[in-house]
Amino acid sequence: MSAAYAGIIINISHEKVDRAFTYKVPERLSNILRPGVCVRVPFGRGNNIRFGYCVALYASREDLPKDAVAEDKMKEILGIEQENLPAEAVMVQLAAWMKHTYGATMIQALKTVLPVSKKEKGQVKKTLRLNMNEEEARVYLLACERKNFKAKARLLTEMLRYPEGTFPYELMTKKLSVSAQTVNSLRNAGVISVLTDTVYRNPTFGKAAEKKNVTLSVEQRHIVDKVMQDFTEGKRGVSLLHGITGSGKTEVYIEIIKEVVQRGCQAIVLIPEIALTYQTLMRFYEHFNERVSVMNSSLSKGERFDQFERARKGEIDVIIGPRSALFTPFPKLGLIIIDEEHESSYKSETTPKYHAREAAKALSKIVPGGASIVLGSATPSVDSYARALAGEYALYTLTTRLTGGSLAEVTIADLREELRAGNRSIFSRALYEKLTQCLERKEQAMLFLNRRGIAGFVSCRACGYVFECPHCDVALSAHAGNRLLCHYCGYEARATRECPSCKSKYVSAFRAGTEQVEKEVLKIFPKARVLRMDADTTRTKGSYEEILTAFKEGEADILVGTQMIVKGHDFPNVTVMGILAADMSLYAADYMAAERTFELLTQAAGRAGRGTRKGEVVIQTYRPDHYSIQAAAAQDYLQFYQEEIAYRTALLYPPGAHMLAVQFLTRNEAYGVEAANKFRALLERSDGDNCVFIGPALASIGRINDVYRYVLYIKHKDAECLIRLKDVLEAHLETPAGEAAKRRIQVQFDLDPVRGY
Ligand code: ADP
Ligand code: ZN
Ligand code: ZN
Repeated sequence: MSAAYAGIIINISHEKVDRAFTYKVPERLSNILRPGVCVRVPFGRGNNIRFGYCVALYASREDLPKDAVAEDKMKEILGIEQENLPAEAVMVQLAAWMKHTYGATMIQALKTVLPVSKKEKGQVKKTLRLNMNEEEARVYLLACERKNFKAKARLLTEMLRYPEGTFPYELMTKKLSVSAQTVNSLRNAGVISVLTDTVYRNPTFGKAAEKKNVTLSVEQRHIVDKVMQDFTEGKRGVSLLHGITGSGKTEVYIEIIKEVVQRGCQAIVLIPEIALTYQTLMRFYEHFNERVSVMNSSLSKGERFDQFERARKGEIDVIIGPRSALFTPFPKLGLIIIDEEHESSYKSETTPKYHAREAAKALSKIVPGGASIVLGSATPSVDSYARALAGEYALYTLTTRLTGGSLAEVTIADLREELRAGNRSIFSRALYEKLTQCLERKEQAMLFLNRRGIAGFVSCRACGYVFECPHCDVALSAHAGNRLLCHYCGYEARATRECPSCKSKYVSAFRAGTEQVEKEVLKIFPKARVLRMDADTTRTKGSYEEILTAFKEGEADILVGTQMIVKGHDFPNVTVMGILAADMSLYAADYMAAERTFELLTQAAGRAGRGTRKGEVVIQTYRPDHYSIQAAAAQDYLQFYQEEIAYRTALLYPPGAHMLAVQFLTRNEAYGVEAANKFRALLERSDGDNCVFIGPALASIGRINDVYRYVLYIKHKDAECLIRLKDVLEAHLETPAGEAAKRRIQVQFDLDPVRGY
């Protein structure tokens, strides 16, 4: 488009980003200016020359925002700044990509990629260090162990691995679950000192007590060499590293980072917040010391800004963190690693609803010279695996578990058969037997209640029949008044008392909580010590780590919990894992239900038998024949993948096609239906690409806080076709009619959603 005017944001790191200034575009630039481009402009009364970023283009006077300055007062852009693309310019281009792809205002996109404000002064950072020499500290540690002061012992043990080290206070207290009282008590006893500083001090470890240097296996070495060969030749593409937990993926990441850093580049490592455990962070610290920094969600915007400043100034080479660490403005970004790449937490839940994997790919093309991307997972997303098989990504596999411990022995318990045999307890006979033996052996067990997707599907307890939509292959959800609803197409039916399949009367909406499970356990095993972990028991800060630590230290025999318990942590004494209601997540009203089920079950199965003893896993299910359950029991990713990709391809779900979810939010139910249908009609009229339209239908939770939610799904092989339709709707919302509608209805876009609506 040829632009006559442009919206410019001035010098982002110092100014507020919520306002763009309008400038005239000189003739010679009108065809080359794009959003994200860095320009020089006269600014302020003195017309000082400042840098700015183009965020909007306008073809004519009529398109300008209402608050734009009058024509005669408007200044002109001086030129494009081409030298030394500053880090911000990279991020502004990424924001422009995000706006284009996912739908958002430029301001929303910019706020996503750029932390703007500097932190307030006077924020104090604390670090810990030993206040005695190593020998004295060891004596003190022994005394703590004898008195069973577990938290003190835990802290000292870790600090003694690096007797000369300084440790970040937060990392030690939060991740090791050590309370402030414990720290204070050790300080008062003169064992440790707490240093305070107004600048962020990075950990340093001095000489390590037990520095472990691994020699990469042949498999690992091969992967590192291939990735680095491509890197050196300037081929900065995507690699997918498929390997079970414990197969050595993290060592591969570390080695690749080292080599990339040696070549003068920096690296971003994305890890889901929940997997950012103390052990994982320490492994990176051990290798990169003060050249690595960690981001987490407890950082304020100002603190994020400070971290980013350090990256910009070249004070660090590596940053580790969840999704938003991707926006670290390194001067020469060369590598992005995304561990557990299948995790849905990589998709933003707020507008712009970007996926970190896609954003990383976009970013890698924007940064000068390009960046390599390494995706890693034990259960790769179907999307990534399909791309790898299609040759778009390089595929590498690590096949052996290096941590010792063989794969667990998995039993599938058919709950329909249990009922037929007169067993109405929540435990199958197999699980009951294994739990009894486990408790007798004084080992630990975990009970995982798969509560994902508890939209309330309705099933028959006798035969496992589930009420499903005749048009969509998803379970119907129960709504008030016996209504069953399909969230994909709006199909409606009534629940019957009697099972349509086996005529039994055991038809009901499935609901069960961890609390009920805990009660049942105590009823059946009154002597067992039980811990429970779910959204209720982890509400307060730090309680998540506390429960896990208590369990690890043997303070309970059985841990009952939701999916929180299957991630990350290692429990060497756990030999039995019971998976209750394994198929629950299959009936979530979205196309990724089977993928999520397979992931969860595979992870859960991997929890048992991590130590030297053999693990036993019981999967309790009404659908023992479902491929996601069969494949998880066999721990066979390929088997799962092949079934799943056939289903996605046949029904045009991602990656078989792209899918755009358009969500309409309104307080007025009748208006919502009418408006959503009008919008659909508008899009159908302008659809030149033969997209598939489904809905609008009420979302699975149709009303939240009196706001009704309708969803329209649109599918097409080419994402750009969907993006065009999104642009049509966005443009319509800027017209007078659209403006009027916007006062009553809010429209949100989600390209390739990973959750059901
Ligand atoms: P993953 O990231 O796939 O779960 P890790 O990289 O954490 O696997 O490796 C699992 C364990 O095996 C770790 O304790 C790690 O230090 C160790 N390990 C990994 N590679 C090697 C190797 N080549 N030699 C010896 N130990 C290794
Ligand atoms: Zn349907
Ligand atoms: Zn039945």
